Amino acid sequence: MLTLSNVHVYYGHVHALKGVSITVEDGKIVSLLGSNGAGKSTTLKFISRLIQPKNGGYEVDGKSMLKASPHKVVKSGIIHCPENRRLFPLFTVEENLRMGAFSRRDKNIKEDLERVFSYFPRIKERIKQKAGTLSGGEQQMLAIGRSLMAKPKVLLLDEPSLGIAPILVKEIFAIIKKINQDGTSILLVEQNANMALSVSDYAYVLENGNIALEGSSQVLRNNDEVRRLYLGG
Ligand code: ATP
Repeated sequence: MLTLSNVHVYYGHVHALKGVSITVEDGKIVSLLGSNGAGKSTTLKFISRLIQPKNGGYEVDGKSMLKASPHKVVKSGIIHCPENRRLFPLFTVEENLRMGAFSRRDKNIKEDLERVFSYFPRIKERIKQKAGTLSGGEQQMLAIGRSLMAKPKVLLLDEPSLGIAPILVKEIFAIIKKINQDGTSILLVEQNANMALSVSDYAYVLENGNIALEGSSQVLRNNDEVRRLYLGG
């Protein structure tokens, strides 16, 4: 279980997170919704220890991660799939996938490559292609695949629908659900609230650095404010 309690983050004078508390229980998909600049990516960067908080708590399975390095966070199984994918464009699909396993010392890497290909057969067909020549949707699949190569316990997914055709968005979300059913907990940051609420168990709405609302995804889907502000109706 991953918990943040009352986390405050500043960028200079900008108070980006104003006491954020969230919990990702084992085996669940949790969505973090909110409009541009609400603090969603900042929350994920904080969890990966890429930015320091002013104060607040952060625990994984009851152990504080406040002093952990980004490398230690990866070692604990918290894997960040960042916004805009951050692939190595001149490296092949296979090289990018193997890069995801760089911190592992076990011998099951080949098996995990096969697992990634079972989720994304399209990626297998392009194994020798340079990542930079893939379509946007394929690049997103590769970015998720690369994160899976690190054997995540908790996968932090930042805007997997960004810049992708609607039909592929559906396909990618179905695979996200499958990855979760196969045992990986997921914290999902999304502007596509409809999609996010359709796959997640629980959701938080961030507004201007504060958690404005939280609840089961089913309840939030029927919440008037959420419908008006985030679901277009
Ligand atoms: P989006 O959906 O547009 O990516 P977001 O909810 O992920 O938005 P964040 O990127 O977390 O929002 O940004 C939260 C706030 O912090 C914004 O006001 C943003 O301008 C500010 N911010 C983010 N990164 C920095 C930075 N490196 N320096 C200064 N301010 C920053």
